Amino acid sequence: MAVPPGRGAVAVMGHVHMLGGTAAWLAACTVTAPTVGVLTAGAAVATGAALLNDIDHEHSIARSILGPITVGLSWLVRTGCGGQRRITHCLLGTFLFSAGIAGAASYWHWPSWVVVALLTGWTSHIALDMCTKQGCPLLWPLSMDRFGLPRDVAITTGGKHDDHGKRGGSKALTAEHLLVVPALLTVAVIAVYMLASGIRP
Ligand SMILES: [Zn+2]
Repeated sequence: MAVPPGRGAVAVMGHVHMLGGTAAWLAACTVTAPTVGVLTAGAAVATGAALLNDIDHEHSIARSILGPITVGLSWLVRTGCGGQRRITHCLLGTFLFSAGIAGAASYWHWPSWVVVALLTGWTSHIALDMCTKQGCPLLWPLSMDRFGLPRDVAITTGGKHDDHGKRGGSKALTAEHLLVVPALLTVAVIAVYMLASGIRP
C-alpha cells in the first residue's frame, strides 16, 4: 500500500542490510545448492550489493566506502534524481541495475552466480526498506508514493544515519534490532542447516 513520503532518513541501517543480503543469498542457495566456493563468494557479493541502494544517502556506508569516488557518485545520483532514495529504491532503478549487471556479465563473462548474488542483495535491500515506515517509492519517477507495509505494522528503525550515535541519532533498541535482526539470523541459520544437511525445499 502507499504510505506518506519519508523524510529522507536511511530506512534500515547498513549492517542490517548486509545481514539481509547474506540471509537472502543463503535462502536462495537452498534451492540451487551451489558448491561451497560459490556459496561463500556469493554471500560476500550479496552482502556488499545490499548496501548499494543507499549510495545516494549522505550518511550511508556505500557513500563513504571508496572515498571521493563513491562520494562523487553519491552526489551525482542524488542530484540527478532530485533527492535521495528515489532511483535506487524503485522498479525503474531495479530494471536499470539488472540491465547493467546483465550487460557487464555478458561483456566480462561473469559466472551466473555473480549476477544472481548482485540482484539478490539489491532486491533484499528494497524488500527490507518496504518493511519500514518510510517504505519505497516503487513507481518513481511517476509517483513519490511510498509502498510498503501498513504504517501500524511497519517497523520503526534505528535512526537517520548509518553512523547514528556519533551524529546524534537514536541509540534506542527498535523493532529493527528486536525483530528484523533475529528474523534474518533465523533465516540464515535455517538455510545453513538445510544446506549442511542436504535438505531441499
Ligand atoms: Zn535504503
